[in-house]
This record gives sequence, structure tokens and C-alpha cells, in this order.
Amino acid sequence: MIELKNLSKVYKTSEKEIVALDGINLTIQDGEIFGIIGLSGAGKSTLVRCINLLERPTGGEVIIDGKSLTELPRRELLKLRQQIGMIFQGFNLLEQRNVIKNICFPLELAGVKKEDAQARALELLKLVGLEDRASSYPSQLSGGQKQRVAIARALAMEPEVLLFDEPTSALDPQMVGEVLEVMRNLANEGLTMIVVTHEMAFARDVSTNVVFMADGLICEEGSPKDIFENPQNPKTQEFLSRFLEK
Ligand code: ADP
Ligand code: MG
Repeated sequence: MIELKNLSKVYKTSEKEIVALDGINLTIQDGEIFGIIGLSGAGKSTLVRCINLLERPTGGEVIIDGKSLTELPRRELLKLRQQIGMIFQGFNLLEQRNVIKNICFPLELAGVKKEDAQARALELLKLVGLEDRASSYPSQLSGGQKQRVAIARALAMEPEVLLFDEPTSALDPQMVGEVLEVMRNLANEGLTMIVVTHEMAFARDVSTNVVFMADGLICEEGSPKDIFENPQNPKTQEFLSRFLEK
């Protein structure tokens, strides 16, 4: 279980302070699929990056399975982070390594034996439908294929939680479906997933819970049915009416 308590993040630049998160409270139970939606600049990326402490919150707490992340000693934090996989908009693959070596990378760092790592990586490639691309380099893959490799890599350490930050936003439209398909299958496996997305159909059909953010705040949280069919907050209503008419 993940609990965010009064989480805040203020970025200080030389000219001004930007309040990216303004006191977020959220509880995510094991196995839940959270869709996070909202306009650009709402604080969605900051929120997911604070969950694994990729970004240090300036206030409040991230509590995972009862442990407050900001108070954990570094070694324990690193261990806990292995339970949290992250998938970014820009894939973040290692260009010098082929597909299978990208997936093996976190396993190598964790000291897994090479044969075991390779066997696991091949299994994961099968899961994302890329078993025939093990020796390709990232530059030889389409965006959709790269993102599927990134998902396989995130799964290598057998995480309990997956964080996605707009995983399909950098893709050509014809490749969005193949990535969403992999994500849909993962959602059925009992993983906890937190997905920042502009794919409203995905948020509506796959999420168990939807969060609408604006100005560093959670404006509204509810079931996909609540949010998409009967939004209460005027900001949610406006966002959805603009998004859904496109
Ligand atoms: P979203 O993902 O919803 O588009 P972000 O979390 O990226 O929103 O950003 C929230 C706010 O914080 C924005 O105003 C953005 O400009 C600001 N911000 C994000 N990252 C930084 C940073 N590293 N330094 C300064 N400001 C930032
Ligand atoms: Mg973002």
C-alpha cells in the first residue's frame, strides 16, 4: 500500500518559487490501477517522481508498506526502490546495449547470475511480444517497440508497483495501441500501477481509480465511472469536455 500524506514540492529557481505539489493526500491499495489525468503543468510528473523519491518532496510523506521513504537510510531506500518500476515518456534505454542487455542491466546491478538474468529477460521479451528482437539495438526499433522494451526492463526486478509517466505521449499514433495492450495485460496481473496519461479511453477502461489534478492539487478522485460520467468539480468538467470533444 502507498500513502501520500500532505505531499508538497516547491521548485526554487533564481527568480521564483513554483509550487508543483500543494498538499497531496492519496491512498493506493495493492493491485489498484490509478489513472492520473490533468493539463500540462498540473504536477502529474512531479507526483509520480516523488513516489519513488526520484524527486525529493519538500514536505509531507510517502509511506510504502508502512515505511516513510524520506526517513529510510539510503540502503533501505535503494532496496525499496527495486519494488517500484518506472516507465518514462522518452523510454530511457541504453543506446550502446542491445535489447536483451538493456533488460539484463538492472539484474546485473543486483548481482543476478548472467544465465539467470538472460533467461528472465527472454521471458519478459516474450511477454511484451519482442522475443525476436533480443539482439537489436534501440536505434533499430520503433518507438512502440522501445517502450515495450522499457516495460520489460522495468519488470525485470519483479516490482510490485509500476509508475508510468505518459508512456505513449512520444509515440506515433499507430504505435500507441501496442503499448497500451501490454499495459492492459499487466493491469490484469495484479500489479499496482500508477499511470499518468492523456489516453482517456485507457484511463476510463483500465483504471480502478482516476485522479484529476490541477495546479498541484487533486481536484477530484473517484471511480472511472464517477469521473468520466459524472464529474463534480468544474475544473474536471471543463478538462474532460475539452479533451473528449477532440
Ligand atoms: P505535469 O507533469 O502535470 O505536466 P510537472 O510535474 O512536470 O507537471 O510540473 C509541475 C510544475 O512544476 C510546472 O509548473 C513545471 O514548470 C514545474 N517544474 C517541474 N519540474 C521542474 C524543475 N525541475 N524545476 C523547476 N520547475 C519545475
Ligand atoms: Mg508531465
